[in-house]
Amino acid sequence: MEVAESPRFIVDHNVGKLAKWLRMMGYDTLFFSGDNDSRMLALAQKENRVILTKDTQIMRRRLVTKGQIKALLIENDKPELQMHQVITTLNLDPQFRPFSICLECNQPLRERSQTQVKDLVPPYVFQTQSQYMECPACHRIYWRGTHWQAMTRKLAGFMNNLTEE
Ligand SMILES: [Zn+2]
Repeated sequence: MEVAESPRFIVDHNVGKLAKWLRMMGYDTLFFSGDNDSRMLALAQKENRVILTKDTQIMRRRLVTKGQIKALLIENDKPELQMHQVITTLNLDPQFRPFSICLECNQPLRERSQTQVKDLVPPYVFQTQSQYMECPACHRIYWRGTHWQAMTRKLAGFMNNLTEE
């Protein structure tokens, strides 16, 4: 499927786990929790977002069949395999813009200096990390710690041997 160079997404609630992974890769991704398919389609069209869903009804909508809205039907139940399908079908780059979007609220993160976060992070983090990012919405502080590294490794794994867990 052909998508923009920096595609943006709407993740339907039935494949909600995809949102965090896409944000981790740096893709602007909305999570749609409602049941109103028409609202999701309107939002996708207005903001030029690719819909990711398990709902075959969406795929039959005229705007989708005519190609005015791009939508990808997710086939698998396992999030790992869902990610593999999205990455390979849309030719996404797992290293697109890592560490750039809040995993919780999809806001672009802002750089913070070590001194700015001194009182906001645990002392052992402050001592070992020099690069920090902050979400302007929820004020969560991000750093490239062990959790982040584990997620990055998992992301890379989506591209490789998927049976190895
Ligand atoms: Zn946030």
